Amino acid sequence: MADHVLVINAGSSSIKFELFAVDPGDALRSTLSGQLDGIGTHPHLKARDAGDELLVDRDLTAEEAADVQGAMQPLGAWLRGRLDGAALLAVGHRVVHGGAAHSAPVRVDAGIVAELRKLVPLAPLHQPNNLAPIEAIAATRPDLPQIACFDTAFHRSHPEVADRFAIPEAFYQEGVRRYGFHGLSYEYIAGVLPERLAQGRTVVAHLGSGASMCAVLAGRSVDSTMGFTALDGLPMGTRTGQIDPGVLLYLMQTKSWDAARLERFLYHESGLKGLSGISNDMRDLLASDAPSAKLAVDYFVYRITRETGSLAAAMGGIDGLVFTAGIGEHSPAIRERVCRNLSWMGLELDEAANVAGGPLISTAGSRVEARVIPTDEELMIARHSLATLRKADEGAAR
Ligand code: ADP
Repeated sequence: MADHVLVINAGSSSIKFELFAVDPGDALRSTLSGQLDGIGTHPHLKARDAGDELLVDRDLTAEEAADVQGAMQPLGAWLRGRLDGAALLAVGHRVVHGGAAHSAPVRVDAGIVAELRKLVPLAPLHQPNNLAPIEAIAATRPDLPQIACFDTAFHRSHPEVADRFAIPEAFYQEGVRRYGFHGLSYEYIAGVLPERLAQGRTVVAHLGSGASMCAVLAGRSVDSTMGFTALDGLPMGTRTGQIDPGVLLYLMQTKSWDAARLERFLYHESGLKGLSGISNDMRDLLASDAPSAKLAVDYFVYRITRETGSLAAAMGGIDGLVFTAGIGEHSPAIRERVCRNLSWMGLELDEAANVAGGPLISTAGSRVEARVIPTDEELMIARHSLATLRKADEGAAR
């Protein structure tokens, strides 16, 4: 019976999970994936096997999954049933913030958890939820290796100018710098780029409900639109993206808004939802005739266009543009509009290929190559987790 690696990606009200079998040669094969969502309100567990067969689709009681940590219990019990005695080698976790210290995944112990907890103020909405499952598993299975894989790690290769804000040095030393996020997604994409782009200058657009872009030069991240937090850069489902900090001063001074009110505004009330007043879901906006929905889509496309120019400049030019994540992978309309805006760069869209979903969506004569590449953050986490485990085993055997 094959050994397994479990991947956990926990958010504020959901836990995504994927189980991988470890085949000979350490090849990873997904055996099931799913999501426990509605945590704290109407928890629901749903999972499918690799053949897309439904394995479970049922409500849990609110008490069973009152919070992320508590929800690990029914989820763990269900997963143990699925494993049916097969060995679980490790659990890999997506952890949004690794701070300045972590440029690689790390095996977690109590000391590492304490260190990562210190980063909660830098990612207040994500980090606590990422750490909760680690602690839940450590409490019941202290022997089980757990590996933290960071969204910031791939960006530690940024040159210093891309890592800085123009603020006094002491703040930088305290950790106020541009970390960048979605790194597991960019790392996966960087690993599957065709030869010319793998060696060249590629802008990768990760367009999901969280959205960012990354300048990948010869396989390494040199800049990204997200900075200190996952707020900066592109507008997102409900997050502002780039905003003049003077707006925040204005809100504090004229409306007496405190930090909690600003946080709600920046993270939950803005972006596509705030602009349209209709929805944070791109599908709803594309289907709507409302002028405000059109404005939200126009703004999204406009900011992607601008950021592509900015990231291309950071690399001294551009050879490729890659679309990934929910919107990037599934919306020909958004891809077409972005590519048309970038025709001045030498990007010529192949309309039929774009509608068909690619992978190559630029013409043979296009100077800039445009592609659709589905991301796979979970596979990246599973690979990192197994590699980290094997390295530790080698170290112990030496
Ligand atoms: P998350 O960041 O939650 O993982 P995803 O990468 O799944 O997000 O992306 C979610 C976004 O993708 C939503 O805004 C959704 O509307 C959008 N999306 C999914 N399918 C399509 C589609 N066919 N056309 C346009 N947008 C889509």
